[in-house]
Amino acid sequence: MITRFFLLTALLLTFAFGANQSVADERVLPAAVLQKMGYRPFNSFPHYRGQRIVRSEPPNNLKWPVQFVDAARTIAQNYVNYQQYGLALPYYHKGCDLRSPAKSFVKAPVTGVLEGGYYSYSDNPDGSEVKHWIPWNGKPHDDLYFELAKTTTDGYRFELHHVDSMNLPKETIQALNKGNVVVQEGTVVGSVIPWPSDYDHIHYNILRQDGLVINPEAYTVSPPDHIAPKIHGVYGVRADGSVIELVNGGTVSGPLQYAVVATTETRDNSVYVQTPPFVGIQFNTRELFAWDFRKALIGPDNKWPDIRQVFVSKLRTPSGKVLSTTGQYGKGLFLMRLNVPPARGPFVIAVSDTAGNTTKFSGVMQ
Ligand SMILES: [Zn+2]
Repeated sequence: MITRFFLLTALLLTFAFGANQSVADERVLPAAVLQKMGYRPFNSFPHYRGQRIVRSEPPNNLKWPVQFVDAARTIAQNYVNYQQYGLALPYYHKGCDLRSPAKSFVKAPVTGVLEGGYYSYSDNPDGSEVKHWIPWNGKPHDDLYFELAKTTTDGYRFELHHVDSMNLPKETIQALNKGNVVVQEGTVVGSVIPWPSDYDHIHYNILRQDGLVINPEAYTVSPPDHIAPKIHGVYGVRADGSVIELVNGGTVSGPLQYAVVATTETRDNSVYVQTPPFVGIQFNTRELFAWDFRKALIGPDNKWPDIRQVFVSKLRTPSGKVLSTTGQYGKGLFLMRLNVPPARGPFVIAVSDTAGNTTKFSGVMQ
């Protein structure tokens, strides 16, 4: 019965994705379904069983592992991007979608041990995920969700998703068959699989060995970004659930339980929008609250940032309009929640991108 239930869930998810005419960016299914498909929960660092040293910072000034399509199509979704596909729970994108032509080369971003396998995720309500893995066994099959990873000696893992496992260079196949082979930065390790919907891309993650999700843009020479995130509206929610719209430079009669910032981020020439990695509120009296994901996906308490706390899924504005947080393939709008400190007087709400561009919105809390 349980098996049937999960298979039914998988079918429903498949239909839901189909209805959107969009293949999910990552495969997310119930753990029991993945188990049946042959996946096992994944230990991220099977090659490093000995002592590991974590540097305080990952290597920086890295090169992207692909050639971008053009100036308008570089990084489609950033690593914070809110994702929701069909009936699956919302999750953080966790990596950058690097737009690159189908069948074009993918290079190793760092020197490290090469590893390959088929991956999937099961999801948790807080937006975290458990990775599931079928290791390389020398007999590849056609699957959109194949990963080549490089693990450095000091414990950072660089993951390249959506590599075409049926068209790997013979050197990559030899290294994977042998296992534990160090491959140099800049080596061509594979190619971009043609994507059945939306856009061809490599999904690029950087993880620290303890699972901390790193912002790849913060450690890579990024395409130009001189455009600050946009604030489309700021709303205040009171303890009784009533909603007010805040006006830039205006006065607010407090207290507010939380503020909702409707926002998007983009970069020079880009046709895509992303989730800003920084949003915060600060009073003149210094009380502040911020989600700061510019370097890593971590909350102000140094814990996993529960996605239900960071984003408001729906908001009815005072004029009766319903806004939703949506994010798929570089489109969407993000309603980001800020806990408002119990303070009065002038305050500033700031939204920033990884490059340091900032948009501000000010007010006075009475
Ligand atoms: Zn992706």
